[in-house]
Amino acid sequence: MKYYVRTYGCQMNVADSAEMGRHFKAKGLVETQDENEASIFLVNTCTVRQHAEDRALSEIGRLRRWKARVPNRKVVVTGCAAERTKEYLEDRFPFVDLVVGAKSIEDFGVLAERLLDRRVTDEELEYAAPVDDKVAAFVTIMRGCNYSCTYCIVPAVRGREIYHSMDQILGEVADRVAEGAREITLLGQTVNSYRNGPNRFADLLKAVAQVDGVERVRFISPHPYYMTDRVIETMAGVHQVCPSVHLPVQSGSNTMLKQMLRNYTREEYLDLATKMRRAMPGMTLSTDIIVGFPGETPQDFRQTLSLIEEIEFDWGFIFKYSPRQGTPAAQFESHPQELIEERHQECLELIDRIAIKKRLALLGTHQDVLVEEDNFGRTRTNYKVHISEDIAAGEEVRVRITNAQRATLEGAVDNGNVTFKNFREEGRTAINAG
Ligand code: SAM
Ligand code: SF4
Repeated sequence: MKYYVRTYGCQMNVADSAEMGRHFKAKGLVETQDENEASIFLVNTCTVRQHAEDRALSEIGRLRRWKARVPNRKVVVTGCAAERTKEYLEDRFPFVDLVVGAKSIEDFGVLAERLLDRRVTDEELEYAAPVDDKVAAFVTIMRGCNYSCTYCIVPAVRGREIYHSMDQILGEVADRVAEGAREITLLGQTVNSYRNGPNRFADLLKAVAQVDGVERVRFISPHPYYMTDRVIETMAGVHQVCPSVHLPVQSGSNTMLKQMLRNYTREEYLDLATKMRRAMPGMTLSTDIIVGFPGETPQDFRQTLSLIEEIEFDWGFIFKYSPRQGTPAAQFESHPQELIEERHQECLELIDRIAIKKRLALLGTHQDVLVEEDNFGRTRTNYKVHISEDIAAGEEVRVRITNAQRATLEGAVDNGNVTFKNFREEGRTAINAG
């Protein structure tokens, strides 16, 4: 018996999908990439923006026919939109067999077991070892969020922060390594606010890096407020922790940051960027930005553009503000959609222009690439690279960057042939990027 998963939204959802998949695998189910051969279709939804929720709802609507085509098929809907609109979903899509909101993901094992026991006999189960063979694995270290950013639905659908214990996290890391992982990404909404007894996020980073077999550690999403000197020193001092930070700024205007309740200023963010780049020359810094937040004046928007230019982010995600029912900002008057589109386009063009410039500086440099699958891997700074040679997943190779026009770089393996010229090129790039 096979299951198919469609995931919408952030890495947290990707990690939740993997966790739910492990419950299915433990019951003997096998994952498939072809929905036609699946008996269970799991839709893991997102509600952070209306667009994401609409896509998930239209997918669920389509599943009425998918389900009717083969007897005993089941549809499971989970995640943040399921949490926010559970009753509506059950009314509008009565053929859905199970709805599990984001706050109840940890109960998924029991709920899935009930679903399977109710409708499937053991003979139908095709037994398989419950393994995840990903080279790069996610490990959730905390759930929920204690912030109240005025635009954001996450605290309502995921609840307040709950931290997993260090022991549980280190155990999960060891499990993923045993299954083939070499790189671990720690996940949380404000991942660096992690605490467990006397331990803070920096202690966890060190402990995870020391787990046998862990070659790379990343984390997402940190909040600027908790990007302490200790975290930065740990990143700089522990080789396994990759020099790449995705640090959402949301806006470059102090007025907007205050309205959003972000708990830092433009100046504090700028100081952080300088501090991190000083500690980790050559690191990459990326961000999230919201354009068209209610009350954003042309001057506020210019402040965001000038922050992007000043910092020169390596890449970034630009989001059009989307009012979420129940959040404080949803009560403020929204900008016309055309204005939001215009600002979105202008911001995208700027961030892409800088991103291309940053990538082109990598041409000819040598990068350590950990191969994840079929000729694709990542640099320590988190650029995706397509490699021309066939290299086994899990191997790290030295690659010369041969093309940097697109977001996915092109590279050729150049192991053990680092010439004096290459050293000079690498040094220069590190200084430029810093
Ligand atoms: N917890 C992370 C943080 O605080 O940076 C981010 C979580 S959220 C799932 C990912 C991104 O979605 C945010 O950084 C923000 O830019 C964007 N986002 C959240 N709510 C939004 C909204 N109502 N409209 C547009 N973008 C939104
Ligand atoms: Fe949402 Fe803010 Fe929490 Fe991030 S920190 S999840 S943006 S409330």
